[in-house]
Amino acid sequence: MQSATGSSPAPGHDGASCAPPAQGEPYLLTPGPLTTALSTKEAMLRDWGSWDGDFRAMTAQLRSSLLDIAGNEAGEYDCVPLQGSGTYCVEAMLGSLVPRDGHALVLANGAYGKRIATTLGYLGRAQTVLDKGDYLPPRAAEVERMLDADPSITHVVAVHCETSSGILNPIEEIAAVTAAKGRKLLIDSMSAFGALPLDVRDIACEAFVSSANKCIEGVPGFGFVIARKRALHDARGRSHSLALDVHDQWDVMNRTGQWRFTPPTHAVAAFMEALRLYRQEGGQPARLARYANNRDVLVAGMRELGFEPLLSARWRSPIIVTFFSPAHPSFSFERFYALMKEQGFIIYPGKLTVVESFRIGCIGQVDEHVMRRVVNACASSLQAMGVDHAAPSTAAIEERKLPGEAA
Ligand SMILES: *Cc1c(COP(=O)(O)O)cnc(C)c1O
Repeated sequence: MQSATGSSPAPGHDGASCAPPAQGEPYLLTPGPLTTALSTKEAMLRDWGSWDGDFRAMTAQLRSSLLDIAGNEAGEYDCVPLQGSGTYCVEAMLGSLVPRDGHALVLANGAYGKRIATTLGYLGRAQTVLDKGDYLPPRAAEVERMLDADPSITHVVAVHCETSSGILNPIEEIAAVTAAKGRKLLIDSMSAFGALPLDVRDIACEAFVSSANKCIEGVPGFGFVIARKRALHDARGRSHSLALDVHDQWDVMNRTGQWRFTPPTHAVAAFMEALRLYRQEGGQPARLARYANNRDVLVAGMRELGFEPLLSARWRSPIIVTFFSPAHPSFSFERFYALMKEQGFIIYPGKLTVVESFRIGCIGQVDEHVMRRVVNACASSLQAMGVDHAAPSTAAIEERKLPGEAA
């Protein structure tokens, strides 16, 4: 267990298995950037030459570690790290892997699905959007109908965990129907990979993307595309953008071991330590178990205060939970946010189109002890605002039920 050497533990630390952030630093209950381990931060205290052999070795190890997590036993896939935030990698994947005369079916149920559609618009690719609103997952049967109805669709683009609501989309059934219909699947697994299973032996996909600052618990600075080698070959000359050309980044990295342009050296070094901690914890199953426990402790505690989660338990991810804002007239999110921050917790505003909500992340170096303290901090924040019950308006709950919660 990492201890906060050189500084005293954060106030209120109660012997949790995740070390607290440095003194005075709040917990980030946000799905990336998130609270990282002290040793991950410490790994950034040295400078690296970008073309030096030591850094090239680190890049090679990073790629093979990620391929191991993805279950690339057959060696069919390769990993292409790319500078920038996750969105840069999504755009790079779309621009490099969807041919200019391709046609993408976008499965959207929140902001990140919509961002994919916007990106395809910038890229001038033909697209059809299945928009499920804020609460419901795209299901295999409707994807099948859409693929049957339009033979020109070449690719399905899906979001694994839609972080804007916290909905965990049924990626297994989407992958199965996409493969059965002879189409190619591209996945935005940004906030899921590393915690939720995404094994290329079980989930047939052409490619997926994730980034350093989500479930592997690194710091922001780069993302990575994991794609079939055949798809990477075929992507040659297709990208609209030099910087976002996945084929070119792959080709140069394979030939020289280097990133094409200045790599985020410190973020890569931090990621190597994050990967070491990931393996030490027990890899994907252990991480999923910790996050799921975080979610369960959080939801149970918040319910006791009267809060109601947006999603039914079936679709509620272990990544982030959306709660309805209380209907009480004295509740204000700005005030709530400030009171939570005073107590050492940064929470997230809602990102829904219709109802008032806020979000609390379950990922990063936090465990159930931290989650109990989060619930206590919510209770005292409500008390400070004079909100004696956190129940949402019945209108908010009804609104959620409109599209057919039973689906
Ligand atoms: C975080 C995230 C992204 C990328 O967002 P950036 O701000 O560009 O890092 C994309 N999709 C999903 C589902 C995400 O959670």
